[in-house]
Amino acid sequence: MTGARTDLPSVRELLSHAVEAVGGTERDGQVAMADAVDSAIRTGEHLAVQAGTGTGKSLAYLVPALRHAVESGTTVVVSTATIALQRQLVDRDLPRLARALKQPLGEEPTFAILKGRRNYLCLHRVHGGIEDEPEDTGLFDQYAISRVGREVKRLHEWSSDTETGDRDELVPGVSEQAWRQVSVTAKECLGAARCPVGDDCFAEHARADAGRASIVVTNHALLAINALQDYQVLPEHDVTIIDEAHELVDRVTSAATADLSSAMVSAAARRCGRLIDADIADRLLETGEGLSLMLEDAPQGRLDTLPDALGGAVAAVRDAAHACLAALGSDRREDAEEATKRKLARSALDDVHDTAVRLLEAFEDDPGERKDVVWRSGDRQSANPRPPALHVAPLGVGGLLRERVFGSSTTVLTSATLALGGTFDTLARQWGLPPEPRPTERAEGTATEKAPPSDADTEPHWSGLDVGSPFDYRRNGILYLARHLPPPGRDGLAAPTLDEIAELIDAAGGRTLGLFSSMRAAKQATEELRDRVTHPILCQGDDATSLLVNKFAEDPRTCLFGTLSLWQGVDVPGASLQLVIVDRLPFPRPDDPVASARQRAVEARGGNGFLTVAATHAALLLAQGVGRLHRATSDRGVVAVLDSRLATARYGGFLRASLPPLWPTQKTEVVREALRRLDAAAPA
Ligand code: SF4
Repeated sequence: MTGARTDLPSVRELLSHAVEAVGGTERDGQVAMADAVDSAIRTGEHLAVQAGTGTGKSLAYLVPALRHAVESGTTVVVSTATIALQRQLVDRDLPRLARALKQPLGEEPTFAILKGRRNYLCLHRVHGGIEDEPEDTGLFDQYAISRVGREVKRLHEWSSDTETGDRDELVPGVSEQAWRQVSVTAKECLGAARCPVGDDCFAEHARADAGRASIVVTNHALLAINALQDYQVLPEHDVTIIDEAHELVDRVTSAATADLSSAMVSAAARRCGRLIDADIADRLLETGEGLSLMLEDAPQGRLDTLPDALGGAVAAVRDAAHACLAALGSDRREDAEEATKRKLARSALDDVHDTAVRLLEAFEDDPGERKDVVWRSGDRQSANPRPPALHVAPLGVGGLLRERVFGSSTTVLTSATLALGGTFDTLARQWGLPPEPRPTERAEGTATEKAPPSDADTEPHWSGLDVGSPFDYRRNGILYLARHLPPPGRDGLAAPTLDEIAELIDAAGGRTLGLFSSMRAAKQATEELRDRVTHPILCQGDDATSLLVNKFAEDPRTCLFGTLSLWQGVDVPGASLQLVIVDRLPFPRPDDPVASARQRAVEARGGNGFLTVAATHAALLLAQGVGRLHRATSDRGVVAVLDSRLATARYGGFLRASLPPLWPTQKTEVVREALRRLDAAAPA
């Protein structure tokens, strides 16, 4: 990168240039957003921007970001939640922009993609420098072992073809078990200086490229790891842009969640068994067996108290892991093979030890003051039996974000859905930001008063901006509130709801995306309706989701039913999608350990836990689901929400105010007639 530049055109000029070069049209929302991002970068005041579908928001933040990077000779980090957006930025938007802005900027800006080390093939491992994980062989049946074996063979062949070693570029992908055998975590890596193939290392090359780039595209998980670790994994940067920011809290929570199982303890014991006194390693192995017994007896789900016997087993694991770490000693001068073994053993022991400590500490505070939630997963009786394990997750990540993300760089957060119930405050609290400086009008039922406990005390400055959407939602979309239907129950979809779905699909002539709150409901609807409607119904799980979405897009008469990933991942403009059906409001499951603990923590502080946690979760997801209908300016259609609570419950106002402004109606016949008209007008 070059030094500071003072001769650059303004953001407005660059944006016009970029829009013209990529063959688009300038839109008011896009210009307003680019100005706001530019102003945030200049003033250092963080910014939250809600930019509806069709705004062209990636250009609106990339142009000021590139200008800043070239002007100051620094790097800007852009973080996304999904691989799809990451690919769009790196394969489409950034190459076109870099070419378009080369002349006005006087140099071609550079960009790179950077992920966690686990996402890159480790050549040292591929070349046999690191043996397979000892626990892998014991866990799978013969069929699974041979499948994993075939995948690993394919990965070895791929290792000599790939230029990046990036897992996401491998199509079709491989199982997690296979990938684990050719990759390492940051803690397991030997370090390029000691690694025999360090000069060729894919992860090291990606890091070096990122260090030289104007823009580094990464994901929320690596952003979280960068915030959680004491060392920097991202290059030095003074501006962070977080796209798909509605996913930030969930992704950071996942990255900050730790697990402990007896298999992990046994693997750590085997890793260090050959390097230390066998008695000390055997003791750890025995504590793993003890943990396994106690876990079998522990209740499933959230643990508000730690049963004494389980607590004793976790403490025994902690102490035995500590003894192994002490016996392992510090790193020595040794050959690469020995160093690798020591590194792997230390990493596994650290994980087991640190998680055991964290699990025990989670119960030390009074219930209302706790910072972490613990739960026990695993069910040997289910269709997909899994051994039991313990998990510990943070109740809030606002303190971490405030200190380590907002505290270290100017941050722009953006998404089509950030202003819930008309205000950014709900999400701002989760991010650790104070209430919005310029309060906006809030919908009835909006919960913003209390948040789960946080830990930071400085108040960063920020502002919120809603640039709207170029789509005319009220003219082109109907929000059908099926008030007459019975509220959803526990026993699957009720007969009147299934009848309603069948009639809506008939009126629409197919063209339907069914967004269900559970896989069970999606399957029930598919099975019961396949014989009743004349149009084909695809169900998630019948094939790879991307193939199903392609089939759905290609044949307008086809319907696609599914659950969570479809709520956010379907981008099908045109007449193949004119009806979105939502079976029930997407609240978190009542037994979701993290959501239920967050809810309780808010209540312990005098707030409304249901509104703050569950309704916020539902609002975000519902807005994403509703957003599937309009993907292009000419798209028209209906979103049918078959959960009558959206029309009747007090929180319904908050949820409705969080959605794109479609024209609302409760009249079934009006909706069916509109669908019939759209079907008749659609291209054959
Ligand atoms: S430097 Fe680390 S990640 Fe890279 S090849 Fe060596 S051990 Fe693997």
